[in-house]
Amino acid sequence: MILGLLKNIMTKTILNKFYIFFFITSCTALAAVTEYKINKILQSAEKINVISKGPTKNGRWAVEPNIYVCKNAPISQHRLERALDYWKKLGYKFGDVFYNDESFGCINERLGYGGITIDLIGQKFKEPNIGMTWNWRHNETNEIVKSRIEIKNSWGGSPRVLEHELGHALGWLDFKKRNHLMNHNWIEGGSESRGLEYKNEYIK
Ligand SMILES: [Zn+2]
Repeated sequence: MILGLLKNIMTKTILNKFYIFFFITSCTALAAVTEYKINKILQSAEKINVISKGPTKNGRWAVEPNIYVCKNAPISQHRLERALDYWKKLGYKFGDVFYNDESFGCINERLGYGGITIDLIGQKFKEPNIGMTWNWRHNETNEIVKSRIEIKNSWGGSPRVLEHELGHALGWLDFKKRNHLMNHNWIEGGSESRGLEYKNEYIK
């Protein structure tokens, strides 16, 4: 009985890994062959007009995204775990977590499919942001295939910053409500998660 259960879990894990591998391979191939089908989107650039509707998404993941924390990212393991817990409590699932990463998206922006890469700010970072998130999204299916979060060194340990950017990586747009997590203005924002539950899969 226990052996059977173990076998079942192992098969599920292997299948999940195979699916992620297949997802990464197919996304990389698709991006290389038909780059126009996948758009790179700066999440905070897209604004919604109807605030009363609640927070809005512009994409969703088809797989449980892996998390790649690059070697130079100003994010501690503890900080990341807290931020992931925030979203797990809302029903989101993540794949494998890699710390001190030097592979995929940390080295080359053209790679990193199938996961969320977290890094220190780069040349494309715009002031006065404290964090920025770009999603690569299939423009027909709204599926997110890759995400890149950049965070300023001095803000890496601050509360809510990584949680907010992870929200963008999961497809959520900025939401201008006082005390809400997806408020892009850190001073006006807070930890409120209303409307961000996984079941709210509404995509505009
Ligand atoms: Zn934002």
